[in-house]
Amino acid sequence: MTHFDTVIKSGNVVTPAGTFAGDVGIVGEKIAALGLDLDTSGSKVIDASGHHVIPGVLDVHVHLELPFCGTVSADDYRTGTRAGARGGVTTVIDFAIPPAGGTLDDAADVWMKKAEGKSLIDYTFHICITKFQEQKDQIKGMVERGFTTFKEFMIYESEGWQSDDRALFGTLERMRDYGAMLLVHAESARVLDELISRYHTPELMKRYGARLHAITRPNFVEAEAIQRAVQWCEATGGQLYIVHMSTGEGADTIRAAQARGVPVIAETCVQYLVLDDSVFARDDGHLFACCPQVKKPKDVERLWAGLKHGEVSVISTDTCTFTREQKAMWQGDWTKIPMGMPGLETLLPLTYTRGVLGGRISIEEMCMKLSTNPARIMGLYPRKGAIQVGADADLAIIHPTNTLTVSPSSMETNADWSPYDGWDLAGFSRTTLSRGDVIVDNYKVVGKEGRGRWLPRTTAGLAANRAASMPSTPLRSSDLEQPVKAS
Ligand SMILES: [Zn+2]
Repeated sequence: MTHFDTVIKSGNVVTPAGTFAGDVGIVGEKIAALGLDLDTSGSKVIDASGHHVIPGVLDVHVHLELPFCGTVSADDYRTGTRAGARGGVTTVIDFAIPPAGGTLDDAADVWMKKAEGKSLIDYTFHICITKFQEQKDQIKGMVERGFTTFKEFMIYESEGWQSDDRALFGTLERMRDYGAMLLVHAESARVLDELISRYHTPELMKRYGARLHAITRPNFVEAEAIQRAVQWCEATGGQLYIVHMSTGEGADTIRAAQARGVPVIAETCVQYLVLDDSVFARDDGHLFACCPQVKKPKDVERLWAGLKHGEVSVISTDTCTFTREQKAMWQGDWTKIPMGMPGLETLLPLTYTRGVLGGRISIEEMCMKLSTNPARIMGLYPRKGAIQVGADADLAIIHPTNTLTVSPSSMETNADWSPYDGWDLAGFSRTTLSRGDVIVDNYKVVGKEGRGRWLPRTTAGLAANRAASMPSTPLRSSDLEQPVKAS
């Protein structure tokens, strides 16, 4: 008999092969067995009866301690990952942005320092390409260093981050050649600039306030940019991932492109599934400014449909926390609002409550969008993303119906407000395990700061899952732990 260090007993266990009522046996950091009545002699036993046992969530879109909009986002690796753990998140992927004049290696070094010694859970980074001509020859080296996902922004000229079509095209060619993947923030920069300048008058700012954030970003600003990025993806064959897709038009474009075999994948964020732009009419509407902004109820419906049909593959958060004091920097000018919202702590509760309990998706589909797909697409599968033998023992145990009321004062995030303040949500994690360690117990963080590890990768994108079309970077066998054999 295998001896298990920990047995999670009598849960409703969600696995890629289906959901079953039973046990999960853990040896060291790995899931060693799934069964109906595992031997618990000498094991730590965690009672999961009456609960769902689901794979740890991967939030593959976060910005912790990011210098942005003239300030620095308020959740760092300590508070951000503690917040994540309470929401069942066991892996985060952040965006490493080169310092002014810096290389891609510098970007990774800077972000490694932010995470090391602080992160409660495992992490890695997408590497942002901000000056294509200077950085293009550094991309291959970053793949060899274990970073297989890159990011370009089609806006943010003022931050020094903007990429043009030459950069998108050239980067996608390299993605194709290196088996890597390009993430793109798709908004149409010049039209957006024009619309912002038209409305940037004292009278209109006084009349419309924070609503101008939505008024100046009509859906075509995102839709055109997605179309253009998809065009370059189709032309080059390089793998493309549209981050934080917020429009129904975007979903239509992705669906059509995927139907003709274009290697494009789309992510949405949970705020686009549960909020709409009526929030900007509130007295505190400026707090809700994120980029892109939440859209219309019809977009909310289309994105849920896209999750169900398949053209929306991942739900993330784009966590970029700013406090009320930071948000107050706007002083009535919407172009000066630090853009972003807290999200890590509520990703799973919102998706579970509105998605699963709301009857929009099944719990298995939720786990696909929060765990399995992100792990596969980001090159972390099968180590992460599913409850199966040989995978890291990253798990969340959630009660099917018990709710907690969202209240910033009782949360781990540094945000002193929440977009969901007062909402009753099920799906907060009663128990979170990361590589076999209990890091949340009875809804409280108990894990040790700095225990999280950097996750090197060798693949990314759909190619990672299609051996036949895989280019030059196959998974090494050493990256795949052998399943523990029953004796
Ligand atoms: Zn982002």
